[in-house]
Amino acid sequence: PERLAGIDLARADALYAEEYARYAAARPRSRALAERLADGFHDGVPMHWMRDWPTPFPMAVAEARGAGITDVDGHRLADFCLGDTGSMFGHSPEPVARAIAAQASRGLTTMLPTPQAAEVGRLLRQRFGLPHWQIATTATDANRFALRVARAVTGRAKILVFHGCYHGSVDETFVRLIDGRPAHRPGILGQVVDLTQNTAVVEFNDVPALERALRRQDIACVIAEPVMTNSAMVLPRPGFHQALRRLTRETGTLLLIDETHTISTGPGGYTGRHGLEPDLFVLGKPIAGGVPASVWGFTDDVARRFDAARAASPGHSGMGTTLSANALALAAMHATLTEVMTERAYAHMERLAEALDAGLAAAIRRAGLPWHVARIGARVEIVFAPQPLVNGSEAEATHIAPLERALHLALLNRGVLIAPFHNMMLVSPATSEADVDALVRAFGEVTGALVA
Ligand code: PMP
Repeated sequence: PERLAGIDLARADALYAEEYARYAAARPRSRALAERLADGFHDGVPMHWMRDWPTPFPMAVAEARGAGITDVDGHRLADFCLGDTGSMFGHSPEPVARAIAAQASRGLTTMLPTPQAAEVGRLLRQRFGLPHWQIATTATDANRFALRVARAVTGRAKILVFHGCYHGSVDETFVRLIDGRPAHRPGILGQVVDLTQNTAVVEFNDVPALERALRRQDIACVIAEPVMTNSAMVLPRPGFHQALRRLTRETGTLLLIDETHTISTGPGGYTGRHGLEPDLFVLGKPIAGGVPASVWGFTDDVARRFDAARAASPGHSGMGTTLSANALALAAMHATLTEVMTERAYAHMERLAEALDAGLAAAIRRAGLPWHVARIGARVEIVFAPQPLVNGSEAEATHIAPLERALHLALLNRGVLIAPFHNMMLVSPATSEADVDALVRAFGEVTGALVA
């Protein structure tokens, strides 16, 4: 039988079959609802990603509050997926719920600023250090707009991405290294433009390859997560960020840091904690406590050149969307920045994430598995490899679908929810020690069953 990452995959398949039956038996209401959803929704869900869980049919949510989800069959789960970061600060944080309620009857969207908007601008500048900000609705949008500005102000067409990155559904970032060559990411639908023409791709942590690409001086912008979080977790090697910043500056290339996931590091993100100096900064998902909103910021230098580019080319900028910066999003963002994303909240998240990290690592040792735990503040990842990962190719090789789905569904049946796609767990300000203990216990049981 095939063995990968210390696991007999036949054993993983057997466990998955058991857990599949157990899930289905325990959820008659979700099953009935799945049938009703299919009457109208293509694929039986309002958004097709909702099928990307390893469950026989979607688990329908009756209520999500704090770090807990109650499904329509009455099961309470400790939620470590937290909407894949959209609810990183807990579901419906009290201050956000209040701010939404207060704004709800005073206008939701007008395409005009509110007094609160002025506060938000100041708060963003204070927290993240950059002087100029704009609001968009998703991190995808913010990245698209920031890349457009980067191209406009440098007059260069190309961008550079790291192999295995994810920055939202931004066309030009869907380029991968396949057999050492740039190619479209497998699965992209309806793409009629050859994206490899204007996107260079190198491995994360590969300074010589980065330098070779940048020295051609035709790249407008490098877009990077400070830690790669979308395919397992790849930490930067010591000196990588310094090299990235030095080389981008030397070659007139802008640096866009996407903090959408790494905001788990601390109140100012990885950038704030480690003193990065991006030209452009993007943060989406949890910035308004779960209400759709994102922010992007930039330096004085970019602002000056941006203004000049716009003056030279009057008309529609190709940026912005009608509902961007609406009053509801601004109210939720204001509450999140002032009352939710606090030092105190992060201290709690850090402490429990450290405990989770230690508990999972101990269970891995007990089971004798060649796995490790990676962590960036409140974000924790179980990696099916013994050593820290160096790049996206190594990260890709750790995805073992039969093992992942068995682990995820077995955890779900034991009352803990982790993110689909990979083994990601987030600790929120509302997560309790009991939640962490429940996850560590369930993980110990499941790894025990996998190696038995
Ligand atoms: N940037 C990063 C780093 C992300 O991980 C994601 C989503 N996983 C996005 C951007 C896009 O976010 P959204 O889907 O909310 O646009």
